[in-house]
Amino acid sequence: MGIKIGIDLGTTFSAVAMMDEQKGMPVIVPNSIGERITPSVIQFTEDGDIIVGAEAKEAFEAGESGCTSVFKRSMGSDRVYCSFYGKSYTAEDLSAILLRHLKEETQKVTGQTVDEAVVTVPAYFYHKERQATINAAKKAGLKIRQIINEPTAAAMNYGVNHWRENARVLVYDLGGGTFDVTLVQMKKGGQMESLQTTGDHTLGGKDWDARICALLESKVSSDTGILTSQYPQVRQTIAQMAESIKKQLTSRNMASVRINLPEYGWYTTSLSLEEFDQSTTDLIQRTGALCENLLKGLGIGWRDITDILLVGGSTRMRQVSTYLKSISGHTPLSQVNPDEAVALGAAIQVHLPLPEYSVLTMAPQQNEKKQRPGFHPFSKQRTASIPDAAAPSYAGPGAVGKETVLDNALCMNHVDVVAHAMGIIAVNAQGTHYINKTIVPANQKIPVKCARAFHYYTSAREENELEIYVLQGEKAPLECEIIGKYVVSGIHHDRAHNPTLIRIQYSYDVNGMVHVQARQEQDTFDLPIREEPVPDDMSKYGRPIDPSEMAPAAEPLSLVMAVDVSGSMSGAPIQDALNAMCHFVDQFENYPGDVQIGIIAVSDKSKIVQPLTSDLRRCKASIRSIKSCMTGVCNAGHPFNDIGRMLSRCQSKNMAIVLADGVWEHQHRAVQAARSCHQQGIDITGIGFGSADEQFLRDISSGDVKSMLVNQSELTKSFGKIAQEIGGGSGGKRGRTGDETQVDTWKAVDEC
Ligand code: ADP
Ligand code: MG
Repeated sequence: MGIKIGIDLGTTFSAVAMMDEQKGMPVIVPNSIGERITPSVIQFTEDGDIIVGAEAKEAFEAGESGCTSVFKRSMGSDRVYCSFYGKSYTAEDLSAILLRHLKEETQKVTGQTVDEAVVTVPAYFYHKERQATINAAKKAGLKIRQIINEPTAAAMNYGVNHWRENARVLVYDLGGGTFDVTLVQMKKGGQMESLQTTGDHTLGGKDWDARICALLESKVSSDTGILTSQYPQVRQTIAQMAESIKKQLTSRNMASVRINLPEYGWYTTSLSLEEFDQSTTDLIQRTGALCENLLKGLGIGWRDITDILLVGGSTRMRQVSTYLKSISGHTPLSQVNPDEAVALGAAIQVHLPLPEYSVLTMAPQQNEKKQRPGFHPFSKQRTASIPDAAAPSYAGPGAVGKETVLDNALCMNHVDVVAHAMGIIAVNAQGTHYINKTIVPANQKIPVKCARAFHYYTSAREENELEIYVLQGEKAPLECEIIGKYVVSGIHHDRAHNPTLIRIQYSYDVNGMVHVQARQEQDTFDLPIREEPVPDDMSKYGRPIDPSEMAPAAEPLSLVMAVDVSGSMSGAPIQDALNAMCHFVDQFENYPGDVQIGIIAVSDKSKIVQPLTSDLRRCKASIRSIKSCMTGVCNAGHPFNDIGRMLSRCQSKNMAIVLADGVWEHQHRAVQAARSCHQQGIDITGIGFGSADEQFLRDISSGDVKSMLVNQSELTKSFGKIAQEIGGGSGGKRGRTGDETQVDTWKAVDEC
């Protein structure tokens, strides 16, 4: 049997680690020249050799040809990153070469074959960059168990050595090109949980380098009168020096600089740490603001944090610790080697069980208006569950319990979150613009699945295909990362059943990657989905929608539900009825037209609990306020006069559903009033259960087929049928009552 390894596939350096089984702790696997980290640099030679690591780095620094580095920054792009001796390479190809090298070196050093690996990526990596990392590993002949976030891996390694139950560790990861911040909590039983992660994909060490360039360029121009903008060569020289000057300022207070200037000769100057720190204040403050936003998002402050863990080469800049201490009051931890922590954490993860999928079900957000369907799926915003809201507050650093070293790193477990919200291009409520509709909010624990239902209009489009553009991020569609165009095909139409209901299931897997599946109506098999290239011209999604593209809105609907609250309904019957009614109301969240619903409670008297409203949340709250016997114990009354009055002025399709239990006292009077409702154009459905009178139900209903005598347990199903007939049903009832063998998560559509 071979070994399992953790790989930190870094922009500048990479590292490999594995578990030392005797110690139960991860250890770094040095490369074959005894170095604990390997430069992420490759050299292609003229005679076809490929050199990776220290030798390639030396060649690179000596200016030899065929060298390439920092390709990680271009992961996920199909563009050629470099070409040497007639061959072109993408960042993915280069990462594959590096990974193969790391694998072969590990095999050479350990004398064992590598079976599986966990590879780390920045938390802020999007789907495409993660996909490219997995592809690179495959090309390298490496079996990937999982890819995990770098800050998460660093936190796991820290957790093993400094375990304190309930400690909250802020992992501050400032690398070369990205900044990630993640809050991780140590929980009972060796459980580590990422609570939230955020960052900036465009903020990293290179921005500090750019400030050094700007400082030097301005010194050159004020001291010599030479404008560097006119000399690209000078600019390039300064740019090449910037990183090393920055590194000098990590250990010294002053760096001296010598530049050969055209028409001037050698120019010497110096740059002080103070100047450097001052010119980069806004950059470090941006990291601070992101940290504070993250804490704010969790409703906590700096005092609730127990540790700050520094990860990433740029945290070696002295300003990082000083600044963090000044804003947080905590001295950031220095026990962790930022070059090794990530690989060590990955080596732990490769031995841990993969977490199971959770199903995301959330209530629609308040104030959110109904959506009108266009060609793209639309759905309701969901609110994220607040992670660990009940977690205790801390008195500050050192206030937590004793620090221990876990006996064995494999006692740990970790749950991660996604940095980016997943959304789709949808149509706004007014049908005027395209919007980014969030499906899975940022910071959702992964892996997670979420099913959404929407209506597909054949009247507007005859094709049997549906396009879904999936996005990552929370901004407008074109400002987000468009991760894919998914085309659902094989949709079968039934003109009598228009709109057709399609259920889409979106998921984030353990690797933080997006998957899309689709099913039609209550089918238990998936519709074919193909991924197509995202068109170059997406500008249409940034412009107002042409009204001719829109599907027609459904006829407005006014609906009254009357529920029998007499004594016989006490206990479970009333609860079941109210639940079924709430569920029914939920089905109209996605109704493709205006809908208003009113609620009546009836027993000895009829009482309008909720006048007609289009606020479905309010409607459900009113349903929940209903109590048995609130209008008397017996059934002396009937609701039809109130129904008639409520619907008398509605220029819409008018409907009423009457839920009856047992026999009413003045059935004749009730039937007469119901008939005048029929004459008024109100479509009445009578649902009876318990000892309800079948003939009475038929008489109050608009036609025999409208009446139903059902078991109490089947109420939800009956309401679901009605909802589907009206066109409001989100398909939820089908999910529940249809095929019990279907994948669990598809049932989540019930809750949508
Ligand atoms: P990545 O995660 O992107 O691979 P690293 O964690 O390797 O990045 O960090 C690379 C960044 O760290 C670069 O911008 C580099 O200039 C910076 N860096 C490395 N060492 C130092 C140092 N001693 N002082 C300041 N910055 C440093
Ligand atoms: Mg790194």
